[in-house]
Amino acid sequence: MKAIRCPQCALWTDGDKECCAYCRYDLHQTEQQAAKIEAGRQFRSFPVPEIHPDDPYWRRGAIHVLRFFQLIFTAFISLIGAIASSTVH
Ligand SMILES: [Zn+2]
Repeated sequence: MKAIRCPQCALWTDGDKECCAYCRYDLHQTEQQAAKIEAGRQFRSFPVPEIHPDDPYWRRGAIHVLRFFQLIFTAFISLIGAIASSTVH
């Protein structure tokens, strides 16, 4: 038996089985999903700081605040670009 942690319910379960013994989550589907998520990250052109669920609350909160200001900054730059392109003919 190879014990692995279920990504859904975070309990240790038998990794040789098809799905989690506690929540019936498909364990072998997760590798494909993780590959898809990783591929999606590579296509995402705008760098956004990652929020890891295992981080302490203050770090997650700080990253949320950082993302908020990043969004405001991006929106402001886009607005400047829109105004500049609409006034120059
Ligand atoms: Zn589970």
